[in-house]
Amino acid sequence: MTEFRENLHEGYAQSFGVVEVLFEETNGLQHLMIFESPLHGRVLALDGVVQVTERDNFFYHEMMAHVPILAHGAVTDALIIGGGDGGTLREVLRHSGVCATMVEIDRRVVDLCTEYMPSVGGGAFDDPRADLVIADGLRYVAETDRRFDVILVDSTDPIGPGEVLFTERFYRDCHRCLKPGGVLVNQNGVPFFQGDEVTTSHRRLGAAFRDAWFYTTPVPTYVGGLMTLGWASDDETLRHQSAETLGERFRASGIAPRYYSPGIHVGAFDLPPYIRDLLI
Ligand code: SAM
Repeated sequence: MTEFRENLHEGYAQSFGVVEVLFEETNGLQHLMIFESPLHGRVLALDGVVQVTERDNFFYHEMMAHVPILAHGAVTDALIIGGGDGGTLREVLRHSGVCATMVEIDRRVVDLCTEYMPSVGGGAFDDPRADLVIADGLRYVAETDRRFDVILVDSTDPIGPGEVLFTERFYRDCHRCLKPGGVLVNQNGVPFFQGDEVTTSHRRLGAAFRDAWFYTTPVPTYVGGLMTLGWASDDETLRHQSAETLGERFRASGIAPRYYSPGIHVGAFDLPPYIRDLLI
């Protein structure tokens, strides 16, 4: 194979050169492939959809982790659903005092990313504050008696095993698993191509939480412009934190991101009209 074409969107594709296919298998859950590319380093694709690349994953993982953690201000217990590549776990554990439980349905994703793309997880799976659970996230939040300050749903798109993580039932169970003042964030696609996902998620998140909104980030290999991350909480003040408050918390955290900043954080919630119009 010399080219990988991603056909996530009907009538539109992106193409990566393939230097070498490092691993490929189809297990009972999904098709996994990791390949070396000329411009993005190593790339993980699940069911033919690009999940993470070594070169540009920092945009997504920094915004998935630091926005809710710095908005909340006192996170000690984080739950990550999905996230098998370890990038979200890496960023969450940059915050001292935070423990993270990761519920990933496919052990093979963790094993293969640890073996072939170790820079993405950055050793986070070996951190004593990390607790990896191999299970379906839908079932975990329905059954656990644990409570969390933030729930980060770093899932595949709503196809295959990821589909259940976009349901109202899942959001209601996440609501149950959050401590008072907790926040749910999820991966919600690229609205330029997947606008219906934003509309549907807004309705379903709004049925389970007092405040349902979105914030945006660019991710170069999630084609179509800005991607949206879903935001839900019963504390409506959390997504309106000031740049001053976020700046104080950011400086105290000691993190040194490559994309996230307090200013980017505040601006990310100011949705452009083409996205805001989807919140009907
Ligand atoms: N950053 C990527 C994105 O935005 O599309 C997501 C990357 S991560 C690899 C997605 C993970 O979700 C995969 O490892 C997949 O196995 C996991 N996953 C899918 N459905 C799941 C479920 N029901 N419960 C737990 N993990 C799930």
